[in-house]
Amino acid sequence: MNLNSLNILSSKPLAFDLSLDEWRAWCQSQGLATFVGKQIFLWIFQKGTLDPEEFSNISKEIRLRLKEKFSWNLPLVDSHLCSKDGSEKLLIKDREGNLFEMVLMPYEERVTLCLSSQVGCKRGCTFCQTGRMGLKRNLSSGEILSQILLANYCLKGRRVTNVVFMGMGEPLDNFDEVVKACQIMIHPDGFGLSKQRVTISTSGLAPEIDRLGEVLPVRLAISLHSADDERRSRMMPVNRQYNLATLKESLLRYPAPHRLGITFEYVMIEGENDSIQDAKKLVKYLSGIRAKVNLIPINHFPGLEMKASQADSLRAFQRYLADRSIPAPVRYSRGQDISGGCGQLAAKREEEIHLDPRELHRQRRRELRKN
Ligand code: SF4
Repeated sequence: MNLNSLNILSSKPLAFDLSLDEWRAWCQSQGLATFVGKQIFLWIFQKGTLDPEEFSNISKEIRLRLKEKFSWNLPLVDSHLCSKDGSEKLLIKDREGNLFEMVLMPYEERVTLCLSSQVGCKRGCTFCQTGRMGLKRNLSSGEILSQILLANYCLKGRRVTNVVFMGMGEPLDNFDEVVKACQIMIHPDGFGLSKQRVTISTSGLAPEIDRLGEVLPVRLAISLHSADDERRSRMMPVNRQYNLATLKESLLRYPAPHRLGITFEYVMIEGENDSIQDAKKLVKYLSGIRAKVNLIPINHFPGLEMKASQADSLRAFQRYLADRSIPAPVRYSRGQDISGGCGQLAAKREEEIHLDPRELHRQRRRELRKN
């Protein structure tokens, strides 16, 4: 039985779900010194060692207890696709057989991981394939962090440096688990990422944006897509709950780092939101906010009737924003040849490919040695 099949069958608590304080408390409950809790935490998140037998500064008896009490398995990799542009998409299967996705995007100077916070999503945005699946369940903090652990296994000696919550799910609908995961990402004894390298992308849940600003002001990205209430409500039902004015009030209160400001995602759809009139409304809406707008030609998937904007409209829209000092780079979804858009691979998966991530890692090392 390999690592992955063990994970599917395991009903033990997931070791990666525990924070530093929870490890300390567990050690206390077992009659152990609390510093052992910190040692365990360091082994998992800082060193990426996921087999308690290798925790060399911890006694054999405790190592055995850890192995017996917790599940230490990374999730099952259902399929792993590599794009021509260097990005990699992993389709992951949870304990109940549900599928969710992560995309790994290595650049020269950084490695960005786009991860999921939920299986599916209840928000029903019309242009998003995940929205069509509905919500299946929230991921736990450990399942969110497993995606980083798994990504680090897949990288050839490199590590994830940036995390964006832009995979499946509305992260702020899973607030507590997402915040707990982010706290471990930025903890110096955890993954040690800078707060400015963790981005939460939301469809605009105004009260949760305020809460996030109070507890953990990481970078914020807003899926905006229109600055017209009627149109936005049509595209994104969340706008009926928190309209543009309510959202803007929260954004003005958000303690975003001044240098970085807030990023707005704007999917460009032909004839829907890509006219100069739309650009004018957007500029007006963004006044008073230090904003960057990512213009994203919509990624096609089966059943989607909308089309990506024509190059002329895209350029005119971009120029209108740039002339008013709003940076507006055009971003194409990476990994288009491997269904890079959110939810696309999970929706279209046809065959199962079972890969053991440790075996994958070993294969990579063998390839490296050969080269
Ligand atoms: S765009 Fe985001 S919030 Fe909207 S349905 Fe897709 S995953 Fe959910």
